[in-house]
Amino acid sequence: MTKPKRNSQKANNMAKQKDGKTKKGTLVFMIFTIVFLLIIMMIGVIIHQAQTNTKKQTDGQLSGQQQSGQVQSNSKINTKGQPMMGTKTAPVTLVEFGDYRCIYCKQFEETIVPQLKKDYIDNGKAKFYFINFTILGEGSRIAANASEAIYHMAPNHFWDFHAALYKNQGDEKKSWVTNGLLEKIAKNSVPSLDMAAFKQALTKDTYEQQVLNDHAMAVNLGLQGTPDLFVNGQAISDPLNYKMVQKAINAALNGANK
Ligand code: CA
Repeated sequence: MTKPKRNSQKANNMAKQKDGKTKKGTLVFMIFTIVFLLIIMMIGVIIHQAQTNTKKQTDGQLSGQQQSGQVQSNSKINTKGQPMMGTKTAPVTLVEFGDYRCIYCKQFEETIVPQLKKDYIDNGKAKFYFINFTILGEGSRIAANASEAIYHMAPNHFWDFHAALYKNQGDEKKSWVTNGLLEKIAKNSVPSLDMAAFKQALTKDTYEQQVLNDHAMAVNLGLQGTPDLFVNGQAISDPLNYKMVQKAINAALNGANK
């Protein structure tokens, strides 16, 4: 009789043990589940924070790019070593990109520049730079090299030669730019010029690099044609529209006076 009792006690003990093990197992399972859920939550929080940080960084980078982009559009124009008309301290900077063979550049030179001179350059409100953008072939490059030569050899007469070159502009469809014509223009517009040195500059293409640098700057700005005018780094969509040019310069002057 005892045997079954013992057996029953044993069974009872075993059941208790089993129950204890089950309870322990349930507890371990619950702890494991809680820890697991906590880990999942923590991972979720970490991922969310990482995404927020990435977004902040991206936004920061974008606004930084936009800002640097705006700065770039101005800094792409380098007026160092370029011929300048006017007072160096003038608050507004005008930059023309032109080609001596371009008929619209001649028009700009003869209709817009005199008004700019009268209204803004001669009274110290603006300074004016000219940069070569040689888009009309070999003749454009030869003429640009000649004007660079005058700028380097007789800087005080650059604008005289520049104006005379436009005045003598030939038919756009013809190859009118010759060394003979450039020498003749130089002789008439730059009396003090060392003609032998100027002739050598023409035959040796001495200022080719300056012309190429000017051209590269225009290309880098994304310019498509000539003439182009920039007022304090801002492109004017129609440089031959004087009212439009005036509006931009007046706005730049108002900005400078604030
Ligand atoms: Ca130049």
